Amino acid sequence: MSTADKIQSSGDLTIEISPPSLTREVWLQQAAIRLANDLFKPLGYEVPEVQVSIGFASGGLRSSAIGQCWPRSRADDNLNHIFVAPSLNAYDTIDTLAHELIHAVDNCEHKHGKEFKKIALALGMKGPMRGASAGPVLKVRLEQILAELPPYPHGKLNAIHHRNSVSKPPKACCAICGYKVTVPKRFLHLGAPI
Ligand SMILES: [Zn+2]
Repeated sequence: MSTADKIQSSGDLTIEISPPSLTREVWLQQAAIRLANDLFKPLGYEVPEVQVSIGFASGGLRSSAIGQCWPRSRADDNLNHIFVAPSLNAYDTIDTLAHELIHAVDNCEHKHGKEFKKIALALGMKGPMRGASAGPVLKVRLEQILAELPPYPHGKLNAIHHRNSVSKPPKACCAICGYKVTVPKRFLHLGAPI
């Protein structure tokens, strides 16, 4: 596919129109459709239309969650909303997306219960269901799908959570016995307590 479409006007003017750049959301939608058609449908599971975005789960950086699926009842458009963490590379993103699509299939009703497990194992996932990810066979399928999709237009974000630094009140320490005592800031100019 060419990187630009050319429109030749009736005169000599040539206008080059670049195709809209592929956004992460469009890429995720394409990936979700491929997963739904290639993996879920042959097993008899219908993936509903979903909204997929890059974003932190509701727990933010404090949470270890790398993906989240919201039930349809929470959204005004009555669609499942899925978020995949920006801290993932392309493979981990599609792996996480596959996990979240299982939640969309049952509209998050059974969390990681036996209904989830049944679909996850059928797909070829392994591990504790809460963090179920692709086993070796599914991994190969995901890598194939990934190779057939356009490059993931995303740079993995090395996100760091900065704790709110709560300033502690200063302490004075006796040079002889080591006894420590908190000194309010307003008295610091008076020097160490006697
Ligand atoms: Zn889950």
